[in-house]
Amino acid sequence: MLQTRNFVQQYDLLGCIQCGRCSAGCPLSLSSPLNVRRIIYEALVRDQLDVNQRPEIWDCTTCTTCTLRCPKGLDPALMLIGMRRVLTEGGRIKPTVRDALESTFKFGNPWGRGKAKRSEWAEGLDVKNLAEAGFPPKVGGDRGGAQAEILYFVCCTTAYDDRVQAVARDMVKVFDKAGVDFGIMGNEEMCCGSEMRRLGEEGLFEFLVEENLALFQQYGIKQMVTTSPHCYNSFKNEYEGLDVEVQHYTQFLADLIQRGKLAFSGEVNKVVTYHDPCFLGKQNQVYDEPRAILQSVPGLQFVEFDRSRERSLCCEGGGGRMWVEASRPGERLAETRVKDALALGAEVIATACPFCMLTLEDAVKTTGAEGSIEVLDIVELVAQAI
Ligand code: SF4
Ligand code: SF4
Repeated sequence: MLQTRNFVQQYDLLGCIQCGRCSAGCPLSLSSPLNVRRIIYEALVRDQLDVNQRPEIWDCTTCTTCTLRCPKGLDPALMLIGMRRVLTEGGRIKPTVRDALESTFKFGNPWGRGKAKRSEWAEGLDVKNLAEAGFPPKVGGDRGGAQAEILYFVCCTTAYDDRVQAVARDMVKVFDKAGVDFGIMGNEEMCCGSEMRRLGEEGLFEFLVEENLALFQQYGIKQMVTTSPHCYNSFKNEYEGLDVEVQHYTQFLADLIQRGKLAFSGEVNKVVTYHDPCFLGKQNQVYDEPRAILQSVPGLQFVEFDRSRERSLCCEGGGGRMWVEASRPGERLAETRVKDALALGAEVIATACPFCMLTLEDAVKTTGAEGSIEVLDIVELVAQAI
């Protein structure tokens, strides 16, 4: 049970005029009973709200469309995370969520994988390790502690997932081609905590913030480029005291291309559409740079989704949803996305987020679209054309 008096105060719910812009804009309303306006209504008229009876709060992807659309400046997405926090702190969570949280605490990643395997993706590549020890052993000719201008923050999913590892390898290829002086943290890199916070584990998030801040300080990190919009958002907006310039890789590459530092020698002769990751687009207004990169790739024909930019559909991979099944089975938004892309005549759905990559690839399989369309990260398309 949730004592709603404090809750109403904490999230300023008395300011809600019940206009319904939040629930009407929620992409999940297409497939889930989640109705954030209704939840606020119930919090306002009841003394207690039984969070145990609201399994649909786990459907929220924390895309923040509701927050962006609220005319009264409320933050319904944050309120839903607050409801999850009550359940998480009480241990009333699904085993998949519990396992992800425990793994992050023990191993620094939510995928239950050992720390010693974190940089296996870089095996055979000559990548500097800015941390002192560990893999890869051949880093700039020594065992670590190398210096570089830029930290490439790889991300747990990119580091461990077989499919997304290819994105990291292509990132190295593109950095090398442009002559970027970069390095990784090797096996010392750990989770940014973005999804842990959104699963309601604020204590674990704070622990990861402390650990990461200490690491960045220890190795004198001044500039960072991330693969994942989730890491980017966390470091940029949620790490108080972080004295590091943070960019998502699409911002970094768009700038390189614009300054003539990354030239193309090949072509990608494909029709490509772009799926905006929520944590890059809606939450950080990075809409133009990914499109600028795609439009600069020779031969590539770019087509735009109708629901794009701030109207974009969510892939349902954010907000911890990688570890939570939807409360009601139905067509997933990623499946809708694949069907929309096919209707556009696209041969490739490009994205720029590890979670989008995995949810969309899965949707290609479940919609039977294999062979008709593929999902590629933007950096993979760039790597094909350099
Ligand atoms: S958009 Fe804002 S004011 Fe309107 S119902 Fe939702 S929370 Fe209330
Ligand atoms: S954050 Fe997104 S998914 Fe969650 S309630 Fe708001 S609009 Fe819906």
